[in-house]
Amino acid sequence: MPFEVIILFTIAIINIFLSMFILRNQRNQVGVVYSVFVFFIALWSLGLAFFLLEQKLDRAIWLANSYYVAAAGITMMFLYFSFVFPKKEKTNIIIRMLVFAPTLLLIFLFINDKHFLIKNIFFINNSKEVVLNSLHYSFYGIYFVLFVFFAYCNLGKSYINTENKEEKTRLKFVIIGTLVSYLLGALFNLFFPWVGNYRYIWLGPLFTLNMVFFVGYAVVKHDLFNIKTITTELITFGLWVFIFIRTLLSETTQERVVNGSLFIIMIIFGVFLVRSVRKEVDQRERTESLAKDLQVANQKLKELDDLKTDFISIASHQLRTPLTAIKGYSSMILEGTYGDSPLQIKGVVDKIFQSSQRLIFIVNDLLDVSRIEQGRFTITLEEVKLVNVIRDVTEELKANAEKKDIALSFEVSVDDADIKVSADFSKIRQVFTNLIDNSLKYTNEGYVKILLKVQNEKVLVSIKDSGIGISSSTIPNLFQKFTRAKGVSKLHTDGSGLGLYVAREIVKAHHGEVWAESEGEGKGSQFYVSLPLKNSKAEEAERFTENI
Ligand code: ADP
Repeated sequence: MPFEVIILFTIAIINIFLSMFILRNQRNQVGVVYSVFVFFIALWSLGLAFFLLEQKLDRAIWLANSYYVAAAGITMMFLYFSFVFPKKEKTNIIIRMLVFAPTLLLIFLFINDKHFLIKNIFFINNSKEVVLNSLHYSFYGIYFVLFVFFAYCNLGKSYINTENKEEKTRLKFVIIGTLVSYLLGALFNLFFPWVGNYRYIWLGPLFTLNMVFFVGYAVVKHDLFNIKTITTELITFGLWVFIFIRTLLSETTQERVVNGSLFIIMIIFGVFLVRSVRKEVDQRERTESLAKDLQVANQKLKELDDLKTDFISIASHQLRTPLTAIKGYSSMILEGTYGDSPLQIKGVVDKIFQSSQRLIFIVNDLLDVSRIEQGRFTITLEEVKLVNVIRDVTEELKANAEKKDIALSFEVSVDDADIKVSADFSKIRQVFTNLIDNSLKYTNEGYVKILLKVQNEKVLVSIKDSGIGISSSTIPNLFQKFTRAKGVSKLHTDGSGLGLYVAREIVKAHHGEVWAESEGEGKGSQFYVSLPLKNSKAEEAERFTENI
């Protein structure tokens, strides 16, 4: 087989493959148009190859006509491409008619007269000499040049008009990539035959290769995941072409059989390889897009969360002022500032006072939560005698214990009575108030025992009660926001489930720990707070004002 024919077949195969590849990867209008364009290049190369191989003159004329139609198809698709790339918009019907009509007309003219372009073909020294109908051929040439010219006008216009940087680069690729091909192709396949030289017509398709790759790159570029697939496909395909050419060039039958079998094996192997890479890329693409979705959802959630925190903060501030007024006035009524009130009214006002007190606690907890979430929760450390804090709190809550007939006790050994911690006084007081108040709240009878001792450079305070206990399934979530044990709201309707969360945040800011233990429901609970001793090694590290 002549060298030129092998080149033409190879180019045809490359283009068929490329056309299919693009169609598979870019199912949009641009992709389809470009794929058809490349397919016409393949047909053109095939037509030329068969033309060179053909020995019968009559058939050679038909083959020549077919590649002239294919060449017309190439320009037609290129012009069409210039309308749709990179805009991806639909073109109107008139443009489509104007673009497609000349090629259809050419097919009609060829069917009507097979000698429309080619007057005659004859052999000289085993190569074909073609006598062209110069008038018709000039028309054909003008049509070709005009179409290409219009296509470049379109592409140039898009280049000037687009502000998108990526589109500009893509257009540059297309313009540069095609220009060289068109110039050389027109020289060897339009101008040379026109002046009577038909020997180099096989060269034209060769120069389409760079254009095909340039434009193909511009079409599928920036699709990063595709690059792995493209590379695998190109390498696999390159191997196929190589073995295919070797098979064609084989000199002995044995060599041909070996190369042919190798070719088949490589095809099977290549298909599997490409498929597996494609699958992997697909999966990665899917994971990537899922991750993106997740990121968006996360962002939205964060925004919502911020909004909620802001809302809580504003709402709590607004609630606090009227609540303080309610509490203040009810306390004044109880103290007799406005004169003596009947016992019945005093009872009711006391309830108002207690309830407003509880509400203020809840609002304060809410405010603390929003401060923690906004990163505005600060503690100011000072030297604190912990025993005094706990004594103070038990004293304050004694009345509650007495009301329920619960034995409230605080135990500390003489040695440990003077221990000091570095803490924010009011915040650490808030922690013990909450824990001891909880124990009293969730205990109906029995005791609440508080024990303080020093252990491993730490102060450990335990608050043990004989109350309702906590189920093992609740314990892990106990210190989270809004956690309340099942059924507990029946016992105490006014809890918010925030106290322990705030307590844990405060203790954490003091580099301490807080945790709960219980043998189960109805079996009492035990809460522990462990804080570093003042001037202990752990505490020395951070001493003054800190932010959570
Ligand atoms: P609140 O008491 O306002 O509901 P907390 O955050 O202080 O909120 O407590 C969360 C939950 O932990 C309570 O609702 C209760 O179910 C449980 N709890 C706390 N302390 C005790 C305790 N001493 N005994 C049993 N359950 C408790």
